[in-house]
Amino acid sequence: MHPTLTIRILGAGVSGLAAAIALARDGHHVELIDESFDIPAVGTSIGLFGSAQRVLEDLGVLDAVRRRSAAPRAGSLRSGDGALLATAPAGDVLLAARSDLVRHLQDAVPGSVQQVRRRVDDVRPLRRGADLLLGADGVHSLVRRSGWGSRAAARSHGVTVLRGTAPLDPPDVSETWGRGWLFGMTPLAGGGTNWFACIGEHRTGSVAGDLAHLREVLGGRRPEIDAVLAAATPEQTLVHGIHTVPPVVPVKEHVALLGDAAHAMAPNLGHGANTALQDVGALAEALRAAGGGPEQRVRHALRSYALVRTLPDQSWRLASSAMMSLAMTARGASARDRLLRSLGTLSPASARAS
Ligand SMILES: Cc1cc2nc3c(=O)[nH]c(=O)nc-3n(C[C@H](O)[C@H](O)[C@H](O)COP(=O)(O)OP(=O)(O)OC[C@H]3O[C@@H](n4cnc5c(N)ncnc54)[C@H](O)[C@@H]3O)c2cc1C
Repeated sequence: MHPTLTIRILGAGVSGLAAAIALARDGHHVELIDESFDIPAVGTSIGLFGSAQRVLEDLGVLDAVRRRSAAPRAGSLRSGDGALLATAPAGDVLLAARSDLVRHLQDAVPGSVQQVRRRVDDVRPLRRGADLLLGADGVHSLVRRSGWGSRAAARSHGVTVLRGTAPLDPPDVSETWGRGWLFGMTPLAGGGTNWFACIGEHRTGSVAGDLAHLREVLGGRRPEIDAVLAAATPEQTLVHGIHTVPPVVPVKEHVALLGDAAHAMAPNLGHGANTALQDVGALAEALRAAGGGPEQRVRHALRSYALVRTLPDQSWRLASSAMMSLAMTARGASARDRLLRSLGTLSPASARAS
């Protein structure tokens, strides 16, 4: 029988909640700290592929998440004027509202987990009395900055993202790539549209102003986009930047980083939550497999976690940045569209959808 560990987790987003469930079920003493355990008010979607679904299944929440997810069968990629560039099957992806995913994970947190609502400004006290500290505190992770230094801080991609939900069925399931902008729309479970847009950095100081600016930049390009933007409201819109973090090995002494804290990535391949959940599955498995006393067990498990997750996570991070550059290029847009159009004609699905 392995000794029980005392594990402190900073951050109760997707990765922190999932880690709390997995580790408490394995018998560890878990403390979960977040400045807010509130359910997000805006239900924008998160992509969950097969690997993340398997972790959710192990946590006992997959069925509940699946019931509240959309599962589009295919989507199209369009140029700024709406012309079809390519179609792609959606595979096994589930599109879940982040708010629903967080709610289902919160419901599954065992009663033994001590949940503490507070903002943390100093990581040092969190290490005292804990065998293991997990930094699941997102893109601007304090744990990361404290343990890995200011050079490991997040860097801006210099773009602004607006995401939201709108009360109309999506005119199509698509991503439109213009010159220096993109706009995507997907279905929400039960009806409605999840939409997202990426434009050059621009903030007005209010969501209403940012939405008005987006309508100015994208208005009149595609009727489908106009329809979604006409239905969008400031209350159901989020505005933020995109940040990435330099690559690091996500473990140090008795500290490990999970999810965005370890490898925040551009959203363009939809793998932020997916890789976060895979991190949790790998860390829980590594702790189960490691033997010895608490110290040795944590050391072995963190080494194994880093070996399993660093390369895949960093690959997704790099590929997501490359995809963002391709989608957002202004000067290379014509060459990009020509290339995608010729690739698109090779796909049997595109012939059916055009
Ligand atoms: C508001 C929001 C909306 C998002 N919407 C989408 C979306 O629509 N689609 C999509 O694909 N991805 C979205 N993401 C990103 C996605 O959630 C993450 O990429 C992925 O789920 C991994 O999350 P995480 O648990 O590692 O970090 P996060 O989800 O960022 O969670 C980090 C948690 O740490 C807490 N925290 C951080 N610092 C401190 C501190 N010092 N003290 C106390 N608590 C702290 C935060 O309150 C937060 O709950 C969103 C993220 C956020 C925060």
